[in-house]
Amino acid sequence: MNVRIKIDGLTYSYSYDENDAVHDVSFEVNEGEFVGLIGPNGSGKSTVLKNIYRALTPDKGAIFLDGENLLKMSHRKTALKQAVVGQENDVPFNFVVEEIVAMGRSPHKKLFDIDTAYDKQVIRHALEHMGMADMAKRNYQSLSGGEKQRVIIARAIAQESSIFLLDEPTNHLDISYQMQIFDLIKRLKVTVLSAIHDLNMASLYCDRIYVLKDGKIVLSGTPEEVFTPENIFNVYGVRCSVEKHPITGKISITFLPEEIIKTHSVVDKPLGGNA
Ligand code: ADP
Ligand code: MG
Repeated sequence: MNVRIKIDGLTYSYSYDENDAVHDVSFEVNEGEFVGLIGPNGSGKSTVLKNIYRALTPDKGAIFLDGENLLKMSHRKTALKQAVVGQENDVPFNFVVEEIVAMGRSPHKKLFDIDTAYDKQVIRHALEHMGMADMAKRNYQSLSGGEKQRVIIARAIAQESSIFLLDEPTNHLDISYQMQIFDLIKRLKVTVLSAIHDLNMASLYCDRIYVLKDGKIVLSGTPEEVFTPENIFNVYGVRCSVEKHPITGKISITFLPEEIIKTHSVVDKPLGGNA
């Protein structure tokens, strides 16, 4: 299989007197895969992604994109390969939607180059893919959260990069937007590495998952391999039951409040060991 992203022993600390935010993290993302990074708040998901999109520079270890050392690549080449959709996208204000999407074209152009017919076609196509063509002239700030995120993904599409790095791209969005955004990204057939907060979403959309805890990868595998009650208890300290869903065929997780575990004799043996 063709490895697109390879992380080898990544270690990063925000300051000398603190523990490593991520420590000796190694993993790979193959061509066309949708790979999820999961783990509790503060486990290091964003730090890993920021090292890949070069907002941070590793203290130790190396990152390779298509076999090439990231730190030896120009920023333009990095941007041609990978598009980033963050959690809070602080977009410069007072831009209309199509201007923001046009920013995705910048790695393809020199400063002050005007948009070619091809650029315009790519921008229009990206807006159409995200169902935002009607809103091309709207001010970005006037959009709802879900619409804003669709614009940011349209910008990533206009960038024509075949690797997408996503940091909890659907946080703060309601369930229909969450599913719509993951569905639209899935349809692009790009290689995806995404931090995902919601375990059921990760189960529905990911081919493989890496689990971070305290800055280290503690588990990896398919959602079916990773999402067992034992693993979820060990990582999150929460009881759950899991079943293969009859319609999706994917693992579906139901979290069990302590009160219910106590009062329901059906769950007399606490799930997840270590009790
Ligand atoms: P996650 O995305 O999984 O919630 P992060 O990568 O944001 O985790 O954080 C990993 C660790 O690094 C946490 O302990 C967090 O407090 C710390 N951290 C994150 N950003 C900063 C920062 N800008 N300065 C100092 N520490 C940070
Ligand atoms: Mg984060």
